[in-house]
Amino acid sequence: MVERLLIKALQGGENTKIMTFTGKKIKKMPSTLEKLPALKTLDLQNNLIPEVCPEIRTLTQLTSLNLGNNLLEAVPEELKYLVSLRKLHLFGNRICRFASGVCDGLQNLILLNLNNNQLTWLPQEIGRLKSLVYMSINHNQLAIIPTELCSLLNLVELQLNYNQVIYIPEEIKFLKDLQKLLLARNNIKALPNTFCDLENLRILDIAGNLIQMFPPGFQNLKLREFYCEGNPLLLKRPVITTHHKDIWSLQISGRLWPTSWTTQHLSKQNRKVKCAVKGKCHTKNELTSRFVMDQLEEKNPLLMNAIDSYPQVRDIISPGKKCAICGKPFLTIWLECVQFIHPSKNCKVSRNLQLVPVQILICSYRCFMQRSPNVFGVADA
Ligand SMILES: [Zn+2]
Repeated sequence: MVERLLIKALQGGENTKIMTFTGKKIKKMPSTLEKLPALKTLDLQNNLIPEVCPEIRTLTQLTSLNLGNNLLEAVPEELKYLVSLRKLHLFGNRICRFASGVCDGLQNLILLNLNNNQLTWLPQEIGRLKSLVYMSINHNQLAIIPTELCSLLNLVELQLNYNQVIYIPEEIKFLKDLQKLLLARNNIKALPNTFCDLENLRILDIAGNLIQMFPPGFQNLKLREFYCEGNPLLLKRPVITTHHKDIWSLQISGRLWPTSWTTQHLSKQNRKVKCAVKGKCHTKNELTSRFVMDQLEEKNPLLMNAIDSYPQVRDIISPGKKCAICGKPFLTIWLECVQFIHPSKNCKVSRNLQLVPVQILICSYRCFMQRSPNVFGVADA
């Protein structure tokens, strides 16, 4: 039947632009396709095709290829010859890998749909799909988002629902055009601080992950839709302080910093939790780093000159953060706190979401004592 359809197409001449063979139980791609070099759209979805035919490489005018719901096991290498391809649908196959080199030829691809496959990883070469605007890999088994994906600077929409993603790389900040990010039903414990650099992000779905609170500055994102149900979010339920032992003021001295203390707690589902300070015995390094960072902020000419001769020092202090209370920098030791923020009225949110827990980092106990009443010390479970 397929051959009959093809013959009909061939009668239409070499200029046939669109071919559709959906749901025809095709097991082998018709090699006669090579006689249709002007083909723009080829739709072969809902068939039984396990591999593409080598002749497909002659279709250099093809802009849209749909091989959804077939039996492919890899993103086929032959696709690299389809240099005009803009839309590629490979959903509902058994794809677990990319053939090597395939991304090299797909320089004009703007849409890639790999939903419902068996991918456990993405190759680094995914970063070569420089024109990609829409990428959808829902319902796979990805654990890691390669940093190379964050070099796809034209990406506007990224869908990774129903995978096993553990964390989001800091490099996500480079996706400045990203407007829609769907990460529902993964294993993400925290979003990176750089997440708040996604200034064009309007839709975020992070439902069904392992997030307790959102990174500092999260409230500045201009989200129009935000879904976060099904996460173990911190709730605003302060519980009574139990004891204050080991609380030392964080001053420049030879003493060690406290490794833990209890203060104002939050309860998580009515369970008592313990406050903690990040860091162990890095006191001296931390104090030196704070001094250097502070002096650089104040534009101390001596240190400004010296830092040029010590790039390794610059590297060490570059991840420095700033205290939410006093604005002074710190490096490896801080107090983790949480602030509860009402979602914006212009934003559609998960049902029952009253307050969004947003992380706040504070440099010292002295600053902690000056916090607003809406800021609470955070506690490890
Ligand atoms: Zn401070």
